[in-house]
Amino acid sequence: MPLPRCRVVTLNAALGPLDYRVPEGLAVEPGSVVVAPLGPRQLIGVAWEAERLPTEEVGDNRLRPLAGLIDVPPVRAPLRRLCEWTADYYLSPLAAVLRMVLPSSSALAGPRQLTEYRPTGQVPPRLTPQRMQALERLEGRQGTIRELADHAEVSDAVLRGLVNAGALEAVAVEADRPLDCPDPDFAPPTLSPDQAQAAASLAGAIGKGFDPALLDGVTGSGKTEVYFEAIAECLRHGKQALVLLPEIALTEPFLKRFQARFGCAPAAWHSDLRSSQRRRTWRGIASGEASVTVGARSALFLPYANLGLIVVDEAHEPSFKQEDGVQYHARDVAVMRGHFEDVPVILSSATPAVETRHMVEIGRYREVQLPIRFAGARLPELRAVDLTKDPPPRGRWLAPSLVAELEANLEAGEQSLLFLNRRGFAPLTLCRHCGHRFQCPNCTAWMVEHRLMHRLACHHCGLVIPPPQECPECGEQDSLVACGPGVERIADEVAALFPEARTAIVTSDTIWSPQRAAEFVRAMEAHEIDIVIGTQLVTKGYHFPNLTLVGVVDADLGLQGGDLRAAERSFQQISQVAGRAGRGEKPGRVLIQTHDPDAPVIAALIAGDAPGFYAAETEARREAAMPPFGRLAAIIVSAEDAQEAEGVARRIGQAAPEVEGMAVFGPAPAPLAMLRGRHRQRLLVHAARKLDVQDVIRDWLGTVEWSAKVRVAVDVDPYSF
Ligand code: ADP
Ligand code: ZN
Repeated sequence: MPLPRCRVVTLNAALGPLDYRVPEGLAVEPGSVVVAPLGPRQLIGVAWEAERLPTEEVGDNRLRPLAGLIDVPPVRAPLRRLCEWTADYYLSPLAAVLRMVLPSSSALAGPRQLTEYRPTGQVPPRLTPQRMQALERLEGRQGTIRELADHAEVSDAVLRGLVNAGALEAVAVEADRPLDCPDPDFAPPTLSPDQAQAAASLAGAIGKGFDPALLDGVTGSGKTEVYFEAIAECLRHGKQALVLLPEIALTEPFLKRFQARFGCAPAAWHSDLRSSQRRRTWRGIASGEASVTVGARSALFLPYANLGLIVVDEAHEPSFKQEDGVQYHARDVAVMRGHFEDVPVILSSATPAVETRHMVEIGRYREVQLPIRFAGARLPELRAVDLTKDPPPRGRWLAPSLVAELEANLEAGEQSLLFLNRRGFAPLTLCRHCGHRFQCPNCTAWMVEHRLMHRLACHHCGLVIPPPQECPECGEQDSLVACGPGVERIADEVAALFPEARTAIVTSDTIWSPQRAAEFVRAMEAHEIDIVIGTQLVTKGYHFPNLTLVGVVDADLGLQGGDLRAAERSFQQISQVAGRAGRGEKPGRVLIQTHDPDAPVIAALIAGDAPGFYAAETEARREAAMPPFGRLAAIIVSAEDAQEAEGVARRIGQAAPEVEGMAVFGPAPAPLAMLRGRHRQRLLVHAARKLDVQDVIRDWLGTVEWSAKVRVAVDVDPYSF
């Protein structure tokens, strides 16, 4: 039914809902994407049910008319409900959530035809450093001048120069060309009996409403093959499927497998899309044409016309938690979207979060298990290397027994992986003369030496500086020493031990795009690499049949710090990295270097006792009333001026209401007390499960005022603290 007047939620988080008159002839319904005038500006917004968003009523005669309707399908009711739920639960403005539904103005109103550019392969005879940088960074890329200039970090003029010199060529792009159409019956796999049963159970839920399920299978059991069958069934029902992946670097191997199963690529959604791709994919999703979408967490809020299934792959991954803007957890919001859309949700993981396992135990999610590896591959054998008894030589990090195993593996012509969750060469640099430690000027963090780039870098704000020749404190020349190991240092040690071995470092510094990930996978499969040294990036989803040895360089690293999730996170990470070993016909071995082989996490890993670990961890959380048995929220107050942040945090603390079942801790300096030049104070709210803590916090913060220089953000269900 067309509306005579309507309430509009714009994409501007500073504005509340606004009322407009609907001009005659404009068919506006709830969910319509409209153009709303405000002062001299034209804002994009979505028409909303007025009764759901109370606001000050404006008399009919004072209403301005809407300026127009954008030619895209209306945002459907289940998604509007999800937006409201997300705004409410995560204490965010509805407009900020809506921006994730309509993330791209070019998708809505951009041109249908545009000109993009790509390298021709011709290199002009004389190259300025800027042009050289541009050509290096643009290899294999295509985009508008603006996009390419951003990517290469040069000016538009540099690129125009390259066009004139014949090094870049123009390509006409039709933004709305049709998307590929995956075929559910293209190449069905032959499933093992376990897999067939799991697949039938998941596929059987398609079209029958909300059904959250944990697909719980050991590493290498074929979880992907199994949920592909649920996707195939979803396609047969003529509905859209969404697959969320934690890491963009993972998408390339995934796309290959998808292509082999369904005959073409799915639609991909992530931050690295060109605006033409963004428009095409967004429109395909909104029209229903994009039948399978694979994406990072941001794909969760897109306006699917006809959603039939949501899959969250590697559902335990912390990268599903968004840490700025709307601080949502994509795993949890995926289940809520499934609820509002009334469709099944599959959470797939070999190492589910304690929270997810708990939901299975209390009967809220069902569990579909894959207890064994596919094709007779056995789970690897895990062994602790006690560093107190078998220490590495001075200045080295690999114990003799691990070195011996590496050597044996090299001789056998098999591949090895060393895991250390630390990028760069050394986590700390100091002056040997005066002991000065290099700290980031913007953050409470050490500058990390990256020897490959010949730089010191802050991993929090991205500041990068050349290593100083002399100590800024005492002026001593060449006095800097590296403390502790990062992956680059381990790679040096491997090179010294095995000069003939071919090594590769795999971190976000070396694998920053799907193309680089694909190249790494290819080199591994072609056995051009003997030993991989990597961070958590290599723990994810890869399948290399000839990889038979995994060494965990420092299993104690993740257990420091006393974080709520330290034990869980270590257990997950080491299980996942161990799961890379022995996935083919040859059995795998995993050596775990530790100073404390009796620590419960390490002992459970060695014993292969996941149920025991989960039971103990769950019990510990129950006793401390920690999630999932209690609730947490962090209130982060930040400002450039330390005193301003402290002052507001103190006033918020003083205004804390007395509520039964709720306790407030702090304010105290946040774990990263300074981040990107802002001082951060934190209050931690601990509440009973039953308490509507959001409501309490909303009212509470409503009683305190602060200046625009201070930012107050609430992190509901923080991942770590
Ligand atoms: P998981 O995600 O459970 O670790 P994967 O889905 O990656 O396991 O499967 C491991 C490997 O086994 C992959 O290379 C996959 O292609 C292969 N595989 C699993 N099930 C089958 C099957 N039924 N037929 C053929 N290959 C399979
Ligand atoms: Zn920094």
